[in-house]
Amino acid sequence: MIRASSVPRGQTVGVRVGAVMVGGGAPVVVQSMTNTDTADVAATVVQIGALAHAGSEIVRITVDGDEAAAAVPKIRARLDRRGVMVPLAGDFHYNGHQLLSDHSGLAEALEEYRINPGNVGFKDKKDRQFGIIIEMAMRHGKAVRIGGNWGSLDQELLTSLMEENARSKRPLDARAVTREAMLRSVLFTATRAEEMGLARDRIMLSAKVSGVQDLIAIYRELARRSDYALHLGLTEAGMGSKGIVASSAAIGILLQDGIGDTIRFSLTPEPGGDRTLEVKAAQELLQTMGFRNFAPLVAACPGCGRTTSTVFQELARDIQTWIAASMPVWRKTYPGVERLKVAIMGCIVNGPGESKHADIGISLPGTGEQPAAPVFVDGRRAVTLRGPMIAEDFKTLVQDYIRK
Ligand code: SF4
Repeated sequence: MIRASSVPRGQTVGVRVGAVMVGGGAPVVVQSMTNTDTADVAATVVQIGALAHAGSEIVRITVDGDEAAAAVPKIRARLDRRGVMVPLAGDFHYNGHQLLSDHSGLAEALEEYRINPGNVGFKDKKDRQFGIIIEMAMRHGKAVRIGGNWGSLDQELLTSLMEENARSKRPLDARAVTREAMLRSVLFTATRAEEMGLARDRIMLSAKVSGVQDLIAIYRELARRSDYALHLGLTEAGMGSKGIVASSAAIGILLQDGIGDTIRFSLTPEPGGDRTLEVKAAQELLQTMGFRNFAPLVAACPGCGRTTSTVFQELARDIQTWIAASMPVWRKTYPGVERLKVAIMGCIVNGPGESKHADIGISLPGTGEQPAAPVFVDGRRAVTLRGPMIAEDFKTLVQDYIRK
């Protein structure tokens, strides 16, 4: 079975979001965000349900106007009736103070309020509008994420830092100044929230940018300067493999440094595409790095000229699909099954060796090899499968192993 990683987590102050603990040494939390119109209660409930079912432990929804704000308590009630208990975070920009004040039930239905220090208010209004949100969080016992974003930085702060930098004897480049503006913006806003009375164990920070190196630099500095729980995410990561690779690189490096308490993969889905991909990608990153276990890991070799038949690829795909389909039942019946490691290898070159490192592994015959597939259990050769039923026979062995 795969062991948990020994990489120490940074010492952040834990924040409770509903029943989910973020930071304070808790396992790294996977979260996601809907892309439905929140005012469309039915569609939003369906998508939240799908994200929660895929493993999202917090789901954020846009709350951008009166219709969306009025829909949130209805969404919460419908989720509760369906037994979907995932905590909801409300994403506020510009008018969060107004919506939280005007819509009864909104403040209670959300477990976390995300506010953007770049647009919570301007000049003299800023403190008052921000204060209303903080007061609502304190009154209802909710968490607040102060979420800075490269694309909506506090322009006043940025301009003053640019001017300060221009007067400096050793000026920084423009990106470094922008990073500093983001850091100061979220840290100053967090300090202000505490001055207003919000406890530190209610505050999370994020400082999202779209460049991998910028993100790593900002979060390393954020972790050095504070002990607030940190939400990691590369904003506008992009579509398909580009988004997954960029998010994995940035978030993976930070997690390896012990930085980050909750993660979100901000992937752009294909039109009509599967929103839950961002949850699966985040889970897979955490599992492959050894931080958490969500589902049995299937290790398969890439195949090469030694695997000209399709038996190997078909078995790898079948096992993966079968495990995913079986997990809802297995998780209840076989505690710890998510730590299982299965290997499916294409030939004798690396097959037996890799299979021995798994809990259970099979080495299929490559081109020109004897038509026999040795199966290894806990590092030892247990049985050799032959004939047209290898896939089914191997599944039976995996099932037997899980039962034991
Ligand atoms: Fe190719 Fe065999 Fe290596 Fe798989 S284990 S990649 S089939 S050489």
